[in-house]
Amino acid sequence: MQSASGEILIVGAGIAGLAVARALQERSVPFSVVERRLVPTDGGLAIVLPGNAMQALATLGLREQIEAIGHPIGRRQYRAANDRLLCEIDEDAFWGPTCRPCCVRRSALLAMLADGLPHHSVWHDAGVAAMVSHARHAEVTLTNGASLSARLVVGADGVHSTIRAQTFVGQSGVTGALMAQSSWRFMAPNPGVDCWSLWTGADGMVLLVPVDGDAVYGWVATTRPHPAGSPTNPIARMEHGFPERVRRALRHALSQEGSLYHSPMEEVRLPTWHRGRAVLVGDAAHATAPVWAQGAALALEDAIVLARSVGEHLDIATALSDYQHQRWKRVAHVQRLTDAMSRAAKLPNLIRNALLPVIGPRRYRQTYEPLKVQV
Ligand SMILES: Cc1cc2nc3c(=O)[nH]c(=O)nc-3n(C[C@H](O)[C@H](O)[C@H](O)COP(=O)(O)OP(=O)(O)OC[C@H]3O[C@@H](n4cnc5c(N)ncnc54)[C@H](O)[C@@H]3O)c2cc1C
Repeated sequence: MQSASGEILIVGAGIAGLAVARALQERSVPFSVVERRLVPTDGGLAIVLPGNAMQALATLGLREQIEAIGHPIGRRQYRAANDRLLCEIDEDAFWGPTCRPCCVRRSALLAMLADGLPHHSVWHDAGVAAMVSHARHAEVTLTNGASLSARLVVGADGVHSTIRAQTFVGQSGVTGALMAQSSWRFMAPNPGVDCWSLWTGADGMVLLVPVDGDAVYGWVATTRPHPAGSPTNPIARMEHGFPERVRRALRHALSQEGSLYHSPMEEVRLPTWHRGRAVLVGDAAHATAPVWAQGAALALEDAIVLARSVGEHLDIATALSDYQHQRWKRVAHVQRLTDAMSRAAKLPNLIRNALLPVIGPRRYRQTYEPLKVQV
């Protein structure tokens, strides 16, 4: 790999990194991407894209492509563990026909974002080990010992960002999420679910979302602490408290060794996202518990705004402070509403289920209405 001295170096080829690459390409700004993995570890799973993610993908010129690979969600239903409907939200009516939320396989989303980028611009198996910011450039050392220089380094390297650690020494910014400390994700045959469906029980919650006619994407979070041991134990315990179609999906997940992805629920909150020749985007800057499924949306929006700022301001310091200024309020809004819903999720079951018919639709509007404004 050659030195990238006049270029922007993007670290990480996840949703944020590939979106930054696409947005820079549209503005003819030269870039390279370095990614430590050969293939994504969670590519077999799916992801929910709310209306503002669809809007951002349209801005990146990908409206037709995402509509072709995503499964429209249509409605959102919150249910009690005994299957009683607590509230329903008509997402189609809320977002309108051009930004209908969808669920898509992560591998398909990443392939779509990477499609059309110059072949030589994305380097896999190229992890960054260190970075030093100088007055006019930054130097990056890869784990294989190679070094690169760039006029700007974009840290799109996720929750445990190396670029963040190298730039804001001693300030990790990572905390456990308020709502739950861990969650499990899986894919299963669709047990008869036709929209975004969340069941809340005494021990936790289960979300099932159709990905296509045959499969659902599942997400389970335990709201009570559980004893140390096998991470699948809480799900096996929860299996008994839910309706048959949920149990069928959970049983499938438990029976397929290796198909349950256990992830700690971590957040990143920082006082600033840039310093010197480094800037953070996506989870590296502001990972947020997936309460409102805003991770991908915020990452895509960051990419659009960063590329615009870098394209409009020759001076890097001005471009980065413009980027942060434009993004800060919107991200803070998502963080605030994530905390509000996380606190509601931790209420005793009876109280939460009594409140959800009122606070569910209200919080939905409160969260998403400001996000309808295009970045
Ligand atoms: C359980 C769970 C469920 C979620 N559900 C949703 C959802 O439904 N909808 C939604 O929008 N969001 C969801 N999210 C959040 C979403 O997954 C993230 O916000 C999104 O993937 C962020 O993308 P990213 O590119 O910033 O980071 P990542 O996806 O973490 O990508 C970072 C990339 O950088 C690479 N990398 C890391 N370190 C280095 C290094 N040193 N050198 C080179 N490369 C490096 C990694 O290999 C990776 O490819 C969920 C998160 C969790 C944990």
